[in-house]
Amino acid sequence: MDGETINWWNIVLGHEETEAVTNAIDNRCISMGRITEDLEESLAVKLGVPHVVCVTSGTSALMVACMAAGIRAGDEVIVPDRTFVATAHAPMILGAGVRLIDTKQAKPVIDELLIEEKITGRTKAIIPVHLNGHAADIDAINTIASRHGLVVIEDACQALLSKTTKGYMGTLSRFGCFSLGMAKLITSGQGGFITCQTYEDCQRLKKIRSQGVLDVFREKNYDFIAGNFKYTDVQAAIARTQLNKIDAKKAHQINIYTRYHEALAEVQCLKSLNVDVLSGEVPLRPEYVCTARDRFIEAMNDQGITVVAHTHSLNMLPYLHSTEPFPRSTFFHSNSLMLPCGPDQPMQNIETTIAAIKRIAGQFPAWTS
Ligand SMILES: *Cc1c(COP(=O)(O)O)cnc(C)c1O
Repeated sequence: MDGETINWWNIVLGHEETEAVTNAIDNRCISMGRITEDLEESLAVKLGVPHVVCVTSGTSALMVACMAAGIRAGDEVIVPDRTFVATAHAPMILGAGVRLIDTKQAKPVIDELLIEEKITGRTKAIIPVHLNGHAADIDAINTIASRHGLVVIEDACQALLSKTTKGYMGTLSRFGCFSLGMAKLITSGQGGFITCQTYEDCQRLKKIRSQGVLDVFREKNYDFIAGNFKYTDVQAAIARTQLNKIDAKKAHQINIYTRYHEALAEVQCLKSLNVDVLSGEVPLRPEYVCTARDRFIEAMNDQGITVVAHTHSLNMLPYLHSTEPFPRSTFFHSNSLMLPCGPDQPMQNIETTIAAIKRIAGQFPAWTS
């Protein structure tokens, strides 16, 4: 293949971030301190949520939230079958089991109608995932949870700034978890944060983040087992700079999504997994189902354009020993792909991708329904 490769994802740190890191180090803000606190405040304001606590990653955000919810060995947690593995690994690493739920027919989020039949005496929490900016039905899920005394932890790692009329995803339950990893709307390399509603939960999250105390140098009363999930000011300096540009990044993601949507409407082998942009959902990764997904990906890669399959469905993980069928999730697992995107992907690359798709689309069967 000649010409340059178009990467599936493109996010850039620029000289503003370099300057922010230099300033942080010059001011001796290296480990967790006032820049992290400032970022937490800014994130809370942006999302309209009372409290934000930064941690090392989206996965540790989920783990720390699970610990704050009191999840321990022998408990069960309800998760959607279709998500990134971290959603299941977080409770499992604490010794809990997961109960998988199939998705809705039309979009890859948990079908709330299937939740109640999976609740047992051991169930402690539900972790709905707003996969790719698609809103799970948080109102219905919180209603079910309160009926059964369960904690709701939203996994909004792919849904920063995605909202419905109810508010931002990841702010509508007891806890919400976000990632600042590389393939997310804003990044600090690694990183994550948790939202919560009450001062008590915020203090608890902060203690879990730091060995069970608010300040390891001053306090000696370690009440419970915890860890070190502290973020750093060097990362916070990057994230704060990224946060200043977040509205432009979001607008760019929407432009990419909309451009693909218009240009590929007539392509018969692809069907878009639509995100409700008009209501405020943010499409993080333009996702399509293809009648011959693996061959399509290969044909695109042959043209120097990286198209990728979306995440595995969890029932495929050997250590979950799942024997149940998950027909809708399996459909997405087998057919879904993500086109080149990212907050810093040049629009020209989107046009090149569209042209390449139009060249090969005729080789693949059309969707008939
Ligand atoms: C990225 C992601 C995570 C984990 O975040 P990391 O920062 O990579 O640990 C969890 N859940 C979902 C749905 C994600 O997309």
